[in-house]
Amino acid sequence: MSFFQVYPVRLVGYSVLALLLGYALKGDELRSFFINSHQPLELNTPSSADVLIIGGSHAGLSAALTLTRHQIDVLILDSNAPRNKWKTPTHALPTWENRNPDDLRRASWKELQKTGFASFANTHITTITKTGANESMFIARDSLGREWSGRKLLIAAGVEFVFPLIKGYEENFPDRILHCLFTRGLEYKGSRSAGLLAMGLAGSPHHSAMLVEDAQKFASTVTVYTNGNLQLGVEITAALLARGEENTAVDNRKIIQLLREPAGDSITIVFDDGGTATESFLVHQPDTRVNLEIVSQLGLETNERNDIVTRMPFYQTNVAGVFAAGDCASPFKMIPNAIFQGSNAGAGIARELPRTITHNHIDRLADKGTTWYSQLQRQFTL
Ligand SMILES: Cc1cc2nc3c(=O)[nH]c(=O)nc-3n(C[C@H](O)[C@H](O)[C@H](O)COP(=O)(O)OP(=O)(O)OC[C@H]3O[C@@H](n4cnc5c(N)ncnc54)[C@H](O)[C@@H]3O)c2cc1C
Repeated sequence: MSFFQVYPVRLVGYSVLALLLGYALKGDELRSFFINSHQPLELNTPSSADVLIIGGSHAGLSAALTLTRHQIDVLILDSNAPRNKWKTPTHALPTWENRNPDDLRRASWKELQKTGFASFANTHITTITKTGANESMFIARDSLGREWSGRKLLIAAGVEFVFPLIKGYEENFPDRILHCLFTRGLEYKGSRSAGLLAMGLAGSPHHSAMLVEDAQKFASTVTVYTNGNLQLGVEITAALLARGEENTAVDNRKIIQLLREPAGDSITIVFDDGGTATESFLVHQPDTRVNLEIVSQLGLETNERNDIVTRMPFYQTNVAGVFAAGDCASPFKMIPNAIFQGSNAGAGIARELPRTITHNHIDRLADKGTTWYSQLQRQFTL
């Protein structure tokens, strides 16, 4: 008996499933679904646009959407390495609770594609140069020698973590070392104990006392670890007392290793005196830094947190024509803020690009076989 005689029902089932999947995803989406989970495909990417956006994540996509609302061409250059590479479920973003951050980017890109004003290149930009003074142009290049040019530039390239040089730190991040108790904290409620690593830029007495109070919302006890910094220990104790905190211990021993406990969802700190302490989770905000190459090539000003300095409300940098938005330009490194800043930067850039400069057609949609009226008709069934 042949395969087809034995499995006819199963074959029909598989075919129907394949057809349904194809219908649901269609064309390019079907291809990008199989090729890459979040990156859009590069289709006829132009070599120039009104605006170059370095970084196609939350900030860059939000800026692009605002710009396309002014019929401004945007070219998004993205290397597909967002800061949340662990893809932990999203929290604290209205309508997106517990969902995958990649799906948010994909949904955003889908909207942009429909505008007809956005293009995309999957690439890592290594050099950016500015030519001219007032009527400037920016040229972005990648390591393959490909080049793209634009009148304005938005840096939405996020930041990278600079993890402390403690053995075992990276292996415990981000599920046993929590970096933000608003985006991840509630999930750990009712924990036995928490430890706060008071180190790096976020290890100041004021910041530490604040984080102790945050951690107390999810764990019965909180201990502060200063990793051998006795002076900081004294200052944190004073800051805690000033807030009326009398029951928080401060441990100044030097940490040599962090061990991931396989059972019991906990983490053990090993000290240089041979002692250990086990906590349900640790709280620590690692330092971050922007892409230093791009920053130095353009001469962008940065601050003590290694973020790009910008001017409110449109996030203009110290270099004319260059804007920055999202994690790379803010201490508030969360998706809602990246979206907000991207949108404002988009509006600021759009205001610097009147039609006298872009010479864009007034009815670009007509060029693409549709008019604003037919679009409206479809939207509101006029
Ligand atoms: C573990 C973890 C969990 C988090 N959970 C939440 C949460 O639940 N809710 C929340 O609001 N926030 C959360 N965040 C924070 C959130 O991920 C960031 O605030 C947000 O991603 C910032 O968006 P962005 O667009 O500024 O930067 P990113 O998302 O980091 O994107 C930057 C983009 O720029 C690209 N890029 C960088 N350099 C170049 C280059 N040279 N050339 C081309 N492309 C480049 C990268 O590939 C990347 O796609 C979390 C962060 C982490 C680490």
